[in-house]
Amino acid sequence: MNAPSTDWIAAGAAELEDVVALRRAIHAEPEVGLHCPLTTAKLRAALAGLPLEIHESRSTTGFIAVLRGGAGGQGDNGRTVLLRGDMDALPLTEETGLPFASTIPGAMHACGHDSHSAMLVGAARALCARREDVPGTIVFMFQPGEEGYHGARFMIEDGLLDVARPDAAFALHISPNVAAGTVVSRAGPLLASTDALNITVRGRGGHAAMPHECVDPIPVACEIVTALNAFIARTIPVSDPAVLSITRIAAGSAYNIIPSDVTMLGTLRTLSPETREAARNGLTRVAEHVALAHDCTAEVRIDGGYPVTMNDPRAIALVRDLAEGMDPDAGWQTMPAPMMGGEDFSYVLREVPGCMAFIGVAPEGSDPATNPPLHNTRMTIEEGVMARGIALHCAVATRLLEHGLPEVG
Ligand SMILES: [Zn+2]
Ligand SMILES: [Zn+2]
Repeated sequence: MNAPSTDWIAAGAAELEDVVALRRAIHAEPEVGLHCPLTTAKLRAALAGLPLEIHESRSTTGFIAVLRGGAGGQGDNGRTVLLRGDMDALPLTEETGLPFASTIPGAMHACGHDSHSAMLVGAARALCARREDVPGTIVFMFQPGEEGYHGARFMIEDGLLDVARPDAAFALHISPNVAAGTVVSRAGPLLASTDALNITVRGRGGHAAMPHECVDPIPVACEIVTALNAFIARTIPVSDPAVLSITRIAAGSAYNIIPSDVTMLGTLRTLSPETREAARNGLTRVAEHVALAHDCTAEVRIDGGYPVTMNDPRAIALVRDLAEGMDPDAGWQTMPAPMMGGEDFSYVLREVPGCMAFIGVAPEGSDPATNPPLHNTRMTIEEGVMARGIALHCAVATRLLEHGLPEVG
């Protein structure tokens, strides 16, 4: 199957009308978390009748649909490719005023996962229609619980990567702040690890007029914040950075009472497992010892978030080539630096080489720079771009099945 990428543009365009309708139906009934039964039902209905093996996730409403290519064309090269679309929404109340806006108060598809899963259905349809020529196996991964719920990890723990072990994996995320149709990504780290910090500093409370008879944890907590910032700035190399933000400090009840403890929340973002490990160990040590120096204790709990999203340079070279083939002028842009947000496709990329890319969906006539961003209650997308997204999924999958990951110098 040597269809040039332009053929996939036509195939994507042919799926667009149905995919827009599916995306709007999902958009109107958004679901948050690991259990998105209405969304799963819509996706399963849209895939009904296609030559796909469905394998359900035990711990989520996610599922994979497996397409085993036919013996036509070049035959089966024995390779397997995974394409992923997430499907969960955010706990936000939509303010777009769209006719198909969310009908569920407090839930909104503000991260575009409605379009991701709809595009993946479009790609599954287009590839199933050409099944005889597909030279290998394609796993379509429909995943809930991306927004902080570790949905991808649960699906991997459910054994869904072992049904047909992928040789490569690909995911596409929309961005309203990139020109419509432009694909944006980079080799190496794309997105950060996302650990949550919970620090409790304990002293001994009492009368605010007699601090010497208490152990006041408030100045100690302040000192810990300063010490943590110095620790990050002075020990983490700028070439492999970490971001630490203390985002909440809570203590006390009245002007004349020294509280017995202070709680702090924060987040740690890094771009490599090494820096992540060093920062986690170091900040725990610094917080504990600053507290000890003042006769307090500090209890540091780190809730492990997503790993670093690491793009394989070979997969990026392949996606770049295909995106440029579809539009030599504006098809591809290399991101100059990673972003410190996180993504649970990182769990898949920890197991399988591959990459994630963004595709611009800035609405026609809008300024990408000032459009409401992802996670905003007014975020909207240019739906026509989904045709390009479908085409890219198909082109990436078939190129990988035909040739595997390319060599890069
Ligand atoms: Zn998001
Ligand atoms: Zn997202």
